[in-house]
Amino acid sequence: MQCPACRHTDSRVLESRSSESGRSVRRRRECLSCGHRFTTYERVEFVPISVIKRNGDRESFDRSKLLRGIVRACEKTGVSAQQMDLLVDEIEGTLQQRSSRDVQSSEIGEMVLQQIGKLSEVAYIRFASVYRQFRGVRDFVETLDRLQDLNRGEVGDIPAAVTSLTSA
Ligand SMILES: [Zn+2]
Repeated sequence: MQCPACRHTDSRVLESRSSESGRSVRRRRECLSCGHRFTTYERVEFVPISVIKRNGDRESFDRSKLLRGIVRACEKTGVSAQQMDLLVDEIEGTLQQRSSRDVQSSEIGEMVLQQIGKLSEVAYIRFASVYRQFRGVRDFVETLDRLQDLNRGEVGDIPAAVTSLTSA
């Protein structure tokens, strides 16, 4: 691993963190020559996943596209970049472990909602309004009801790592 500052090839690892899904590792390193600190990410090589859109079109799963949607929904809600990354890791990891290589875009949407609702109610409503294509007040009311169920713990569960970040 080359130091981005001086190109020296030896560094020591200060800290390693695995994502909840265990699919990626983030390492904080220090260059042994100049002392510069930098971060590296290692990711397991993935099998390609096809997303089937509402109109029946297929596209390959795009991690950064999913992250962009989440970032937009979480704007000014206090949800940290790390939490968003973890959320995307979680979803990607779940998709990777399924036997099917195909996933409906609506399934991904529901997976995001289940998790984002615990991080921020505002982000949940925003994400839902985009992905479920709200057409009126009724859609909002139904979504609020679902959010309340989610936060009562009646719908699914959220990985401990994500909730612990929220309360930290
Ligand atoms: Zn260096």
